[in-house]
Amino acid sequence: MIGISACLGGVLCRYDGQVKTVEPLKRLVEQGAAIMVCPEVLGGLPIPREPAEIVGGDGYDVWRGQASVVTNTGKDVTEDFKNGAILAYKKLKEQGITQLITKEKSPSCGRHTIYDGQFSGQSKTGVGVATAYFLQQNLIVLSDEEWLAQQGRKLEK
Ligand code: SF4
Repeated sequence: MIGISACLGGVLCRYDGQVKTVEPLKRLVEQGAAIMVCPEVLGGLPIPREPAEIVGGDGYDVWRGQASVVTNTGKDVTEDFKNGAILAYKKLKEQGITQLITKEKSPSCGRHTIYDGQFSGQSKTGVGVATAYFLQQNLIVLSDEEWLAQQGRKLEK
């Protein structure tokens, strides 16, 4: 059993009320081989919600108290993001999950890349708030892109 970002599994939980379905991951959920978590929704944020970005660093910096998560209208949602990460981890731990596939570029779920904190559409290197927490708890986290590349390589063999 693995964990996945809920928007990859077909849940309309993104900030814009949309989804980022990755069909093979959705199938894993249907087969009972994956469970879905959406840290932002678990943190109490609504669907849809204002887009948010990490300002002043990345997810690790948020946990160090050196960066915050702010919406495009300037609302600070750092605590919602942190609470959601902790609740998502709890849910994963209850299921004995040690590996996750998360949505690249998300301020919660980004694995290697997040947006630059200026709502410019540009991305930068860094992890999201939930991903930073999961990694700190020694979970293995792959991005959707990495996972798909890995699956492709397996198929080639
Ligand atoms: S917080 Fe993660 S699971 Fe939820 S919508 Fe954003 S990328 Fe998807």
